[in-house]
Amino acid sequence: MNFELTEEQTLIRDMVREFVENDVKPIAGEIDKEHRFPSESIAPMGELGLFGFNIDEAYGGSEADVLSYALATEEMAKVSAAHAMIMGSQCSLTGPIIQKYANEETKARLLPGVVSGEKIGCFCLSEPGAGCDAAGQQTTAVRQGDSYVINGSKLWITAAPQGAFYIVFAMTDKSKGVKGISAFLVERDNPGISIGLPEEKMGMNGSDTCSVSFSDCVVAESARLGAEGQGFSIAMETLDGGRLSCSAIALGIAQSALDATITYTKERIQFGKPIAANQGVQWMLVEMANQVDCARMLVYRAAAAKMAGGDYTREAAQAKLYASEAATYVTQKAVQLHGGMGYTKSYPVERLMREAKLTEIFEGTSEVQRMVIAKHILA
Ligand SMILES: Cc1cc2nc3c(=O)[nH]c(=O)nc-3n(C[C@H](O)[C@H](O)[C@H](O)COP(=O)(O)OP(=O)(O)OC[C@H]3O[C@@H](n4cnc5c(N)ncnc54)[C@H](O)[C@@H]3O)c2cc1C
Repeated sequence: MNFELTEEQTLIRDMVREFVENDVKPIAGEIDKEHRFPSESIAPMGELGLFGFNIDEAYGGSEADVLSYALATEEMAKVSAAHAMIMGSQCSLTGPIIQKYANEETKARLLPGVVSGEKIGCFCLSEPGAGCDAAGQQTTAVRQGDSYVINGSKLWITAAPQGAFYIVFAMTDKSKGVKGISAFLVERDNPGISIGLPEEKMGMNGSDTCSVSFSDCVVAESARLGAEGQGFSIAMETLDGGRLSCSAIALGIAQSALDATITYTKERIQFGKPIAANQGVQWMLVEMANQVDCARMLVYRAAAAKMAGGDYTREAAQAKLYASEAATYVTQKAVQLHGGMGYTKSYPVERLMREAKLTEIFEGTSEVQRMVIAKHILA
């Protein structure tokens, strides 16, 4: 097994590291405090190719490999998990669905904008009654001649106010259960869409999360992505990539909290010596470092499994489960080892702790990841 990064992977990691240090770090705390979408970062991120992972060169994508994408996400999340979340929605959820399932005209029209960041996409699966049980879709798409009429409400939609298009999962035939769910592309100028106010979240405040409702929203048959009834399998296949992306976000958060804590415990003097000189503190740091390294192995393994081209559902779920729980553990210890300072906004660890918690919830909770992994190991 080769643990060395290629020259291209190293270049991409270092390029993102430099960009986040110069352009994202100065606003990371501010966008969290002000609950503000970082509009100023979108064009520069597009220019660097950060929305072009997983998209073909023909549409402006970078065609860099999956591990490069994981490395870029990790670097971004070290400094701003909200930026990494915007990147993830674009590169691992909406862009790939358009690329794989839209017709040529739509791809040529939308994908260059996805890559540049001018067209932000939104993944609309969750509903008030369909969270972990995503198969319980209540949104309907009723065929009328060569159109579909969509009605229903989606919840928790990332970047909904900024969205140029929405990938909407809806029931086309309830009698068929999950095989009656289809996917649709609904563009922002389509009449019948309304966006709710952003949720007041615990963290990831630079990324807006809103409800999106569809009321007699008419789309052409050509807006259907994939075959009728293929929607649920498109959603699940896409979420494998999404979970890999979430695991890299969690890894970045955890690494950042560990780095900050090593620095702080070496500098903070109590009882006449740095607090890091105490064995009790060292053992906490060791446990944190071990969890970060184990998470990294699982994230990179999932990236390698995706690159190999086969099924990587189990690897993605294991990476997401472990890395997200590690991020929560490591950030909580980071706050603890910063003492009172950890509980203030003077240091980034309290933000990291709030950001980490989301990684255990979105794109399938830890309990859902356990269900997925159990199904695979018991098969
Ligand atoms: C900030 C944020 C951004 C999001 N972005 C998007 C997005 O862009 N698009 C989108 O479609 N969705 C998005 N989501 C939704 C997210 O994927 C859901 O919140 C998640 O899937 C959980 O669904 P729920 O909140 O309804 O929880 P519920 O399904 O109500 O679950 C509540 C609790 O019960 C547990 N539970 C449920 N069923 C079982 C079971 N059978 N066994 C054991 N435990 C169980 C869960 O694990 C959880 O702990 C986002 C959510 C958040 C918070």
